[in-house]
Amino acid sequence: MRTERSCTRLLLALLVGICLVSSGFVTPAEAAPKYRWKLAMTWPTNFPIFGDAVIKMADLVKEMSNGEMEIRIDSKNKHKAPLGVLDMVKAGQYEMGHSASYYWKGKDQNTLFFTTMPFGMIAPEQYAWFYYGGGNELMKKVYDRHGVYSYPGGNTSNQMGGWFQKEIKSLDDLKGLKMRIPGFAGEILSKLGVVVTNIPAGELYTALDRGTIDALEWVGPSLDLNMGFHKIAPYYYTGWHEPATELQFLVNSKKFDALPPHLQKILEIAMQFAAYDMYARSYNDSAENWAKIAEEYPNIKLRTFPKEVIAAMKAENTKLLEATAAEDATFKEIYESQRAYMKKVRKWTEMSDYAYLKDNLE
Ligand code: CA
Repeated sequence: MRTERSCTRLLLALLVGICLVSSGFVTPAEAAPKYRWKLAMTWPTNFPIFGDAVIKMADLVKEMSNGEMEIRIDSKNKHKAPLGVLDMVKAGQYEMGHSASYYWKGKDQNTLFFTTMPFGMIAPEQYAWFYYGGGNELMKKVYDRHGVYSYPGGNTSNQMGGWFQKEIKSLDDLKGLKMRIPGFAGEILSKLGVVVTNIPAGELYTALDRGTIDALEWVGPSLDLNMGFHKIAPYYYTGWHEPATELQFLVNSKKFDALPPHLQKILEIAMQFAAYDMYARSYNDSAENWAKIAEEYPNIKLRTFPKEVIAAMKAENTKLLEATAAEDATFKEIYESQRAYMKKVRKWTEMSDYAYLKDNLE
């Protein structure tokens, strides 16, 4: 009798337990997430600021979804294809990616516009264009052809023009100058006589130190400090070529469309938050790191390119853009959208931030 009763009790306890778990009253601590995604980023493991933005996004998704969705981050050290991120997301090998749109210029020149453009908009203007000026819609149009969605993925703020061994006093000083500067800006400078090279990040310091190159651009104090360029090059130029470098989150469209709506929303909010947060972080780190460089290396000379150099760069930039726009209707559409928006938004920048700064700088 006693045995029978304890058996019944045990059975009841088990049934109650099962009911509680299945009805959601008790969540097992180790419950597996329903959606396990993988993200491939262009950056190496522990890459500051860029990599931190990705971690922030993934952590937010996990927390906001109460563990229903998890995103595993693979750095370039793992997937070995830093410039293959678009292809891997397109193929569905990874559900997501984190990279920069202008890296895909060789596959689709229209992707160029969604990172930053020489002499283009500054970060607040560009964010306004993305979210309220038709930028995100144009980005969707371009990326729909690749079967992926693209989202703003974090801004470096205005990038510096680079580290130079010699001062640039005229256009003649550009002739034969060996400089590492990738992308569209490199094309502009090569028209002005610069010998443009692209050297992997890990070899840049040695190349500048040994005279393999005379100048290079990287990002700005936020990321330049760790590279140590200030120890070997005395001139630091202000920027013209990457006024608002926006990174990019890529999402495979089919995988995104298959997510339940609440997880789609959570993912979009997490990406937007991480992007804007990276802008604030970049601004802070540039200020902090420049203060360190200026204190430890007071002989670093901050320079702006002479007016004739800037004018020549601008002219080449317009020539290159218009030549491409004449051959590619989508390129033309995006170019004109950015140009028209910049004209409008720049007026506001001039009468607000610019006017304020002009009158308040010593
Ligand atoms: Ca750069």
